[in-house]
Amino acid sequence: MSILGSSFALLAMVGLALALTLAALLARRRDLHASAKGLAERKKAQERGTARARLQYPSIDLARCVGCGSCVAACPEDGVLELIHGQAAVVHGARCVGHGRCAAECPVGAIALTFADLHERSDIPVLNSNLEAVGSPGLFLAGEVTGYALVRTAISHGIAVAGEVALRIKETPTTRREGVIDLCIVGAGPAGIACALEAKSRGLNYHVLEQEVLGGTVAKYPRRKLVMTQPVSLPLYGQLKNTTYSKEELMVLWTNIANTHKLSISTGEELESVERHADGYFVVRTQRGVVRANHVCLALGRRGTPRKLGVVGEELPKVSYSLLDANSYQNRHVLVVGGGDTAVEAALALSEQDGNTVTLSYRKPEFTRLRARNEVRMLEAQQSGRIRVLFESEVVQIGSDHVEMISGPEKSRSVMSLKNDEVFILAGGTLPFEKLKNAGVSFDANLRAQSAPIAERTAGLLPSVIVAFLLFLSAVAWVAYHWDYYSLDPLSRTESPLHGRLRPSGAAGLAFGIGAVALILANLAYLIRRSRWLSVTFGSLQAWMTSHVVTGVVALLLAVLHGAFAPRSTVGGHALIAMAVIIVTGAIGRYFYAYVPRATNGRELALEEIRTNMAGLSAEWDSRFPGFGERVQNQIQTLVDSGHWQGSFARRAVALVGSQGQLKKALGKLRVEGRREGIPENQLNELAELARRAHRAAFMAAHYEELRALLATWRYLHRWIALLLILMVGLHIYTALRFGSLISAGGGH
Ligand SMILES: Cc1cc2nc3c(=O)[nH]c(=O)nc-3n(C[C@H](O)[C@H](O)[C@H](O)COP(=O)(O)OP(=O)(O)OC[C@H]3O[C@@H](n4cnc5c(N)ncnc54)[C@H](O)[C@@H]3O)c2cc1C
Repeated sequence: MSILGSSFALLAMVGLALALTLAALLARRRDLHASAKGLAERKKAQERGTARARLQYPSIDLARCVGCGSCVAACPEDGVLELIHGQAAVVHGARCVGHGRCAAECPVGAIALTFADLHERSDIPVLNSNLEAVGSPGLFLAGEVTGYALVRTAISHGIAVAGEVALRIKETPTTRREGVIDLCIVGAGPAGIACALEAKSRGLNYHVLEQEVLGGTVAKYPRRKLVMTQPVSLPLYGQLKNTTYSKEELMVLWTNIANTHKLSISTGEELESVERHADGYFVVRTQRGVVRANHVCLALGRRGTPRKLGVVGEELPKVSYSLLDANSYQNRHVLVVGGGDTAVEAALALSEQDGNTVTLSYRKPEFTRLRARNEVRMLEAQQSGRIRVLFESEVVQIGSDHVEMISGPEKSRSVMSLKNDEVFILAGGTLPFEKLKNAGVSFDANLRAQSAPIAERTAGLLPSVIVAFLLFLSAVAWVAYHWDYYSLDPLSRTESPLHGRLRPSGAAGLAFGIGAVALILANLAYLIRRSRWLSVTFGSLQAWMTSHVVTGVVALLLAVLHGAFAPRSTVGGHALIAMAVIIVTGAIGRYFYAYVPRATNGRELALEEIRTNMAGLSAEWDSRFPGFGERVQNQIQTLVDSGHWQGSFARRAVALVGSQGQLKKALGKLRVEGRREGIPENQLNELAELARRAHRAAFMAAHYEELRALLATWRYLHRWIALLLILMVGLHIYTALRFGSLISAGGGH
């Protein structure tokens, strides 16, 4: 009996097809909704200026991205990445602080961390790849002073600098001289501590200068603040295994490490200047004296001096530049100044204490660089009245029991006086540019090396294909060797002396079957790793993806050998078909699907370009005919948006037909209005052309989506059929164990 010959099998397949179609449609609806949300968020990011990365950001190779969402889930910051059109896209690039989890977790190696255009940044020091100031050999920078945030990065910088110094001293030991130490480290934050530990472990003669206390910025975090980091190794200590530490835990850790290893640190000693002596070494001056060193590592962080307001009353004792413990402030009238995460978190913590009245003053009209979580919490606090936010406001004077402020847009500023007991100025810090420049650090963007282009990487396919091909050749050799048996008609095989061994329940056949099942189970381990169930993060996802491909292909090969090339209309035979479908859909998803959305995204870009042209034209009108340009833009935009992201194909099709008429009507009306306003005819024609193009591009983008959607079904087919396969394999094993002996007695499976 052929597999498809059975009417039961046909019925089951129709049912299955319907179920899968339904699942795919529902999932498609969800994807469309997510895409529309992602696009709206991207638009918001562009308007707020958070779309552009400040330093590092993930660069996504759309020809490889399979849209699995691992990067979105792995990123500890909110909103940096979203899935748009079924693929990863950078939304709030400015929120990227360089964790690099996205690149590490991408199973197909489609993400690389790259650098934003630094040409406009005059606050990033110019360093070579050894973190050495360009033009000042022997002067190194480490940690956040380089522009890169994160405890882990600071630690890796500190280690790298001490390692480099140790290497140079090993290569030219003659540079060592009496009274001059190998390395002077300035700053005892994570970078400085790691640098000192590495220096000690390498036998360097080093000393650390710290203006305040050990711990750096961490010491300034609010009480019990959770610090997120990734596992990182500290010299002489070992692995910091946790991904989250409380501020107090980290402070205890730094102190214990410094005591245990008797690190040479002097606290309360502020760097004043770094000069180079005629003999080539550095003279590091502090208010207490001078340190001579062959190399200097400036690990000053970026919050050296808190930014001040420069207003009358700022010297009052009630003014602070950090909040260590919100619990100590109750029943107080508090003003927090600043619009970053530190200010917002402080305002939120203070608003949670009994009896506090909290006002937050920010000079900009809205928050633009907050973590999404803080933005949501802040909005809730504002809406519930726990915090009053004064945007576009400035403190003009601080009195003993009040503060004087001006607030509101430039043209209509109002003066107000607020009752006040405490002021927290959390408006960031100023980098000691002068000190750094005098020491020989350059900030000249023109000296900065061009960031290396992202290297084109291979698809990671080669190892899997080689392994699979070798196994395929082995299978071919096996078949050739037993050709006498496999070439027989299935009914005549029982006569062959090889039947006992090669039939599915024979010694070799069974071994193939067991091997196939083992590989299917191994194949599923990829899903466990990807979804991080059981917090399994062993090995890179890319290696797991390669093993997923290899085990899948080889499992099919073994299953075919198990079935002795004559699958029957049994649950085992159907499982074999399911396996083949899974492999085909997997191949579409992994190697073909990604090429389609590139074009879709291209259409989105074209649409954006048209929108920019329209905005330019309308801005031109606005200067001469106030309000008209904006009105035109809004009307066209509304028309383009309606129907663009409709949930179903039918609704989009109806919207397409209907909107043509609406567009014509709207353009006619605008033309009449434009003539009335005195807009030249050629400009009205240009408007009509742009509007039509915008409209067309929007609908093309939306309908092009259908093709992608069709191909996107690979994912659902792949997943759901895989689930079905597991059930079928389970059933197959059960029936084989339960009835195997009866069937084999009858000469079958
Ligand atoms: C509110 C907040 C939350 C954060 N949360 C996290 C987080 O969850 N995870 C994470 O990985 N990162 C976080 N960060 C960032 C992280 O704290 C920094 O990236 C890290 O501390 C940088 O280490 P560093 O050693 O380079 O500088 P710092 O820690 O800033 O240390 C610099 C040291 O240099 C000293 N110094 C400065 N000038 C002089 C001078 N003239 N003379 C002598 N000494 C001087 C300072 O006193 C300070 O001790 C957060 C930062 C802030 C502000």
